[in-house]
Amino acid sequence: MPRRLGNFVRRFGKFVPPVLARPFGRPVTLFFHGVEPHTDDPRVQTNHHEVDDFVRIIKTIKTNFQVLPLAAISDALAHPDRHHRTVFLTSDDGYANTLTIAADLLEEMGLPWTLFVSTHHVDTGERNPMFLVRLFFYYAPCGHYDIPCLGPIALGDQQMRDRQVGPAVERLRLMAFADASRVLAAMLAAFPDNTLRQLLARFSSEVFLSWEQVADLKRRGVEIGAHAHHHWAMHADQAPAFVRDEARRARARIEKEIGVCSYFAYPHGNTDDVSRSAWEAVRDAGYDYAFTTLSGTLDASLNPFLLPRFCLGADERGLPSLVPLLRAANPRLAEWQRKMAG
Ligand SMILES: [Zn+2]
Repeated sequence: MPRRLGNFVRRFGKFVPPVLARPFGRPVTLFFHGVEPHTDDPRVQTNHHEVDDFVRIIKTIKTNFQVLPLAAISDALAHPDRHHRTVFLTSDDGYANTLTIAADLLEEMGLPWTLFVSTHHVDTGERNPMFLVRLFFYYAPCGHYDIPCLGPIALGDQQMRDRQVGPAVERLRLMAFADASRVLAAMLAAFPDNTLRQLLARFSSEVFLSWEQVADLKRRGVEIGAHAHHHWAMHADQAPAFVRDEARRARARIEKEIGVCSYFAYPHGNTDDVSRSAWEAVRDAGYDYAFTTLSGTLDASLNPFLLPRFCLGADERGLPSLVPLLRAANPRLAEWQRKMAG
């Protein structure tokens, strides 16, 4: 079975006529990140749909499914057969463009949605670490850098940079927070001050919402959930105290600034990014439900703190067939959940 069955379903599901797929339909959760009019460097702006694609995707969702607020999830889990067309729509990270662009588009179509914010980034405006890593690989001046935990890195032509960025992102994702923070600091030190400022201004797509803007979304009916405090994976190599703090502090910050916070989404959220201590920390922090990024459909057999969620691709096609077929990923999800139960 492919490691990411969601990718398999995405590639081949679109060839199945919707009428054949529909009877398999079960409630699902979908997610996107930001929405931009145009992205000028997809090598670093990896998290945003372009407006035209996003509008096409949400129109397809509205036509083919019933989008419900996340408050209906208990009912969907308990009665999946009554929710064969139910979709919960969510967005991760908390980019400012979710207020300036996505919120208007979703409101126009009457689609409820939930936003998961990483509270440290709302507090400080610090960019998503993976964006900063990409920025280093593609925009740091040519030269040799001694980066802690990663070793010497030479940056030269485009090909040289292309080759290194993927493996480095992967290694950073699996690193403990303290080490990953040292790596990031060394990478940012490679930029002359004004160059970094100019780059951060140029890629305004990566700017996070302020608390005032999150409150604005809340007033407009958007549910606000937590995407940890820092945007780092909560895997087994993270210190238990770090993982507990990520879950607890994110909820405390949201409850102080916005109001009740019942939902959590794990940063990165795949099998390598979520440990047993992570879901237990999320449970103990008082959330009702938490979402991974594993594919699958919702029902009462699942661990409520390890629910599946499907990432909407940049140019997602064939959703009417693909969404019902996500059910094919349930055995893999169930097997992982069994392992995570100890
Ligand atoms: Zn995220």
